[in-house]
Amino acid sequence: VWAFVCRFEEWMQMAANPVDVLVIGAGPAGLTAACFLRQAGISVTVLDRAEAGANTSRAAVVHARTLEVLEQIAVTPSLLRAGLIVPRFSIRDRSRQIAALDFSGLPTRHPYTLMIPQAETERLLEARLVELGGSVRRSCTLERLSQAGGEATATVRTADGEESISARFVIGADGGHSAVRSAIGVEFVGREYEQSFVLADVVMTWPLPSDEVQLFFAAQGLMVVAPLPGGRHRVVATMDSAPQTPELADVQALLNARGPGGTVVTHLVWGSRFRVARRLASRYRVGNAFLVGDAAHVHSPAGGQGMNTGIQDAADLGGALAAVIAGTAHPDSLDGFAERRRPVAAGVVALTDWMTRIATIRSAPGRAIRNAVLTTVLRSGRMRTALATRIAELN
Ligand SMILES: Cc1cc2nc3c(=O)[nH]c(=O)nc-3n(C[C@H](O)[C@H](O)[C@H](O)COP(=O)(O)OP(=O)(O)OC[C@H]3O[C@@H](n4cnc5c(N)ncnc54)[C@H](O)[C@@H]3O)c2cc1C
Repeated sequence: VWAFVCRFEEWMQMAANPVDVLVIGAGPAGLTAACFLRQAGISVTVLDRAEAGANTSRAAVVHARTLEVLEQIAVTPSLLRAGLIVPRFSIRDRSRQIAALDFSGLPTRHPYTLMIPQAETERLLEARLVELGGSVRRSCTLERLSQAGGEATATVRTADGEESISARFVIGADGGHSAVRSAIGVEFVGREYEQSFVLADVVMTWPLPSDEVQLFFAAQGLMVVAPLPGGRHRVVATMDSAPQTPELADVQALLNARGPGGTVVTHLVWGSRFRVARRLASRYRVGNAFLVGDAAHVHSPAGGQGMNTGIQDAADLGGALAAVIAGTAHPDSLDGFAERRRPVAAGVVALTDWMTRIATIRSAPGRAIRNAVLTTVLRSGRMRTALATRIAELN
């Protein structure tokens, strides 16, 4: 009875004092938004349906613009300490270099990409959120969301049953299958790619330089090899039908068929298969509910841009909401979030689609033409800088 009374009091308090912002999803996008809001002294509740933070590496590249943005919440120094700085991308056909993109001349304080497993990025963001007085409520799943009178009400399933949470604003940072997006009736327009992707973190002997990300164009499909902290490498490859859980022998076979040769994989740390789609939310805002990260856009991992774009969405929205809640900006200014960020995502979807298509050309003549065109186009310093600028998301 006492527990019920306490719970009832908690519910009444929540109903009487809606939280300023409710963030659904504690991936990189949700955690970033929550940090920006907490830093501005805004009350935030962050919910995630998972029992614990994810421990898989997934997105492993943090680009220059993301490092600049995360400086504002003092996360960049810890990322730099934990990650590996890589200043170059090279495009290769087996061991032959077709073109190279050098990030070191870009006009930024961080003229490089930083390699760091996503689980580590999330751990550092969550640690910062805790420093800022926030936290993540886990094992809480958003079931329903309604909006009326300028307030949103979320129905959440917890270990103790259903709970109702009221908030002035809701951020849907709940990934590609977003429940927030469904609840506010926003379409996710696009289609799935035919190929699936194999992803593996391995320890191996590697004959090529370890300060570059290498993209291999092969007849069988695209393969990306990138160095990770701790002497590991990330291997990502497109396949028509990838094994559900890749084994060491599968990764070795990929490297033999598409890589430079002379590679021996000695340890498979983690492997996964995933399918990707190119989709963009038809709207980023309905009433006081907003979408960020994979809830708003998904695309091919070419160029490693998914998590980066999501973090930058979240920083933009977190800052905009903080200004409106603090009374220093007009509520209408919130429309600027979608106006700024949706075209960015549309550009990323288009660029990564183009990269995926040209990287997966099958026919021998098609590949020869592609290699010749790329070599010629990327001989121009201006073109190289333009492409590096777009990949670093500095455009
Ligand atoms: C195997 C794999 C490999 C990848 N590799 C790359 C890569 O190499 N490069 C790259 O750029 N990107 C990659 N990605 C994509 C990248 O991981 C995503 O772009 C990134 O995680 C998006 O961050 P997010 O915060 O928007 O969403 P997510 O990281 O998906 O986080 C969403 C969170 O919301 C929670 N949630 C979902 N539904 C609910 C609900 N109803 N209620 C409460 N909580 C909910 C989830 O538990 C999750 O924690 C990969 C993804 C996968 C799965």
